[in-house]
Amino acid sequence: MFKKLLVANRGTIAIRIIRACRELGISTVAVFSTADKGALHVRMADESVCIGPPAAEDSYLNIPAILSAATTFGADAVHPGYGFLSENGDFAEACQKSGLSFVGPRARHIRLMGDKPRARRIMRRAGVPVLPGSEGTGVTEVREAQTDAKRLGYPVLIKAAAGGGGKGMRIVRDAAELNRLFPLAQGESEASFSSRKMYLEKYLERARHVEFQILADSQRNAIHLGERDCSIQRRHQKVIEESPCPILTARLREKMGKAAVRAASVVGYSNVGTVEFLLSGNGEFYFIEMNTRIQVEHGVTEMVTGVDLVKESIRMAWGEPLKLKQRQVTFGGAAMEFRIYAEDPERHIPSPGVVSNHHPPGGLGVRVETALYDGYRVPVHYDPLIAKLIVHAETRTEVIARAKAALREYVIDGIKTNIPLHLKILHDPDFCRGEFATDFLRRYEPPKAEASPPAPISKAS
Ligand code: ADP
Repeated sequence: MFKKLLVANRGTIAIRIIRACRELGISTVAVFSTADKGALHVRMADESVCIGPPAAEDSYLNIPAILSAATTFGADAVHPGYGFLSENGDFAEACQKSGLSFVGPRARHIRLMGDKPRARRIMRRAGVPVLPGSEGTGVTEVREAQTDAKRLGYPVLIKAAAGGGGKGMRIVRDAAELNRLFPLAQGESEASFSSRKMYLEKYLERARHVEFQILADSQRNAIHLGERDCSIQRRHQKVIEESPCPILTARLREKMGKAAVRAASVVGYSNVGTVEFLLSGNGEFYFIEMNTRIQVEHGVTEMVTGVDLVKESIRMAWGEPLKLKQRQVTFGGAAMEFRIYAEDPERHIPSPGVVSNHHPPGGLGVRVETALYDGYRVPVHYDPLIAKLIVHAETRTEVIARAKAALREYVIDGIKTNIPLHLKILHDPDFCRGEFATDFLRRYEPPKAEASPPAPISKAS
């Protein structure tokens, strides 16, 4: 097994990785920006090193600084977590060239799945259903988009070929709107991904987001660990995730699971990954993308399957074969994750500042993943996700009751959070019945005139 692992991340996922390493007997090196000097992941790691100033480009996205830290400290592996460099093929390749094991898939799989029109083509050829959309490598001109939209029929969704985090996405309902919104979406893509390549997809109304967790070793064994329903979203970004999906039949689960495993196997994928589908009201499902890293919501799957996904990712990077066969995967109870953001719940704007009092909830089936502590200053520079509350119980109804109690117990003083929004959702009759689609949260949006610009949410989802 690896001796020393550098954690190329911060916050809750960095802590999650450090914990997994401790259990595996691997020592850890934390990296941090000057804004994170007092951060918990720095205190918890065996060793730590400052890699630059607060701006992510100069620290957590700074490949030479991270590689130099890894080699200086004698690490033999690097775990990228989610967000930051986790889906950067150049980083994975650079690690390998420096003699470091990258805990994740091969660089070519990261690049392949990061090019969404290409991933769509490969999936369609492999018999995995995709939505009608732009053919070829994508579009860069409005007039090409107009031709595609005419063929597809409105509504359509403009998407960034290199997209992530809901950036560069716009729903378009007619030609005039396409003319107006295409340049805006393209501008967003250029700013976030340095790419003008866009593509169009038929917009599926009232769809659910249902994704499958994949585990694949380097000996080409691949299995899935069931699904997560991530339909509770704001601006195409997940807010609550749960497993099992409340409306999935055993038959459909099997069919979608097989398609997800095929999606990974057909390219020879290895390590953890997630195949995302949209599920229509009449049970049709379509591949939308594959995330080539650990997901924010991995804890939901861990609670219902008992599999430690972070430890598995490290074991697979070391070259261990999968111990589990598909038929040995068992599912117990139901789990939900609530993403807790440092934000003003009314206006959806970030709320950084000093946490004067932090009291996380506890008890049976209540898991909190957080980097907060009393006196911690939530920096302005990064994603405002400050905690994840994961609740597990025998049934979905019990999860809802347990989650309400846990969220009421959660004290985070000094900053504003979206806990009140979670409590509202948990009292919503449609949510409680499991009847919702990806547009569910629109009913809790502030009126348009007061709406604020989107919070800086990272690529990880
Ligand atoms: P990103 O990588 O930016 O997160 P995704 O392709 O994963 O983008 O889509 C994010 C979300 O956007 C989905 O979960 C879903 O809610 C919505 N979405 C994406 N594609 C479609 C589509 N064709 N029709 C309807 N909704 C979609």
